Amino acid sequence: LAQLFRPLDMLGMVYRTIRQGLIDMEAMFRLIDTPSEITDAPGAAALHVAGGAVAFEDVVFGYEADRTILNGVSFAVGAGETLAIVGPSGAGKSTIARLLFRFYDPQGGRILIDGQDIRAVTQQSLRAAIGIVPQDTVLFNDSIGYNIAYGRADARVEEIAEAAKGAAIDGFIAMLPQGYETEVGERGLKLSGGEKQRVAIARTLLKNPPVLILDEATSALDSRTEAAIQDTLERIAERRTTLVIAHRLSTVTSADRIIVLDRGRVAETGTHDQLLAMRGLYADMWARQQAEREEGTV
Ligand code: ADP
Ligand code: MG
Repeated sequence: LAQLFRPLDMLGMVYRTIRQGLIDMEAMFRLIDTPSEITDAPGAAALHVAGGAVAFEDVVFGYEADRTILNGVSFAVGAGETLAIVGPSGAGKSTIARLLFRFYDPQGGRILIDGQDIRAVTQQSLRAAIGIVPQDTVLFNDSIGYNIAYGRADARVEEIAEAAKGAAIDGFIAMLPQGYETEVGERGLKLSGGEKQRVAIARTLLKNPPVLILDEATSALDSRTEAAIQDTLERIAERRTTLVIAHRLSTVTSADRIIVLDRGRVAETGTHDQLLAMRGLYADMWARQQAEREEGTV
């Protein structure tokens, strides 16, 4: 019977993922394993990661032929730096993450990691170099240990425990009756939004990618949980090239650089202070969000 339920679990997960617009892209990809138009170039080499510098050069992309989402987007993130991408919902922020992970190829321009066009390297090596913490993490109906090790079947118990520690969820797991063997998900222990995000962080730590994408990783959490998880995320972003996608600007003020995406273009670039001084889109968004905060609606 358990075997019968597995595919149903997966279908359910895929359905929920689509319905809620979640973006656990790696999980989606591994599960559906869609025959994709994205293929390795003949004789593609493995990506050689030096520091994990990321560059978008004049990238043009649309999901459909008659609607351009990114209309000449350029930016560069140095190895180990943190770049924040902000902008209204629907601006194309997650699309940037999907393109970097190469779920799609741009119609114009190029995307480079350490100077290598991502279309020229194997998808396997590309995806191994990038970790994603999405807005909502999908848990499998399995043990919490399995959920952390997901995608790394060879992970040793000590490695899983180390990742849990880095994600500050080791204490929580230690208090569970069956520890790492505790069943979670729909038919097991229900985890809170914050606990699920910590599982996603632990998963990412185990993968240990040089490039990290945080796509609204804390936006579904209440502000107290958000602040706690934010601390953990800043710690794991320290030694990696990080793209932080955010709607809530209070989470990106410490980024090395921030780009504001608007109508398919990079409208503004700078640090938080520089952008405020520009008195443009960013400054407007900031003022609006501060006001909402004072009204207590955020
Ligand atoms: P953001 O993350 O900034 O909110 P997205 O990058 O997810 O925005 O989406 C940008 C635009 O692309 C939106 O208008 C969205 O509706 C559209 N879009 C996203 N995914 C698809 C898709 N698979 N097919 C068609 N359009 C899409
Ligand atoms: Mg998005």
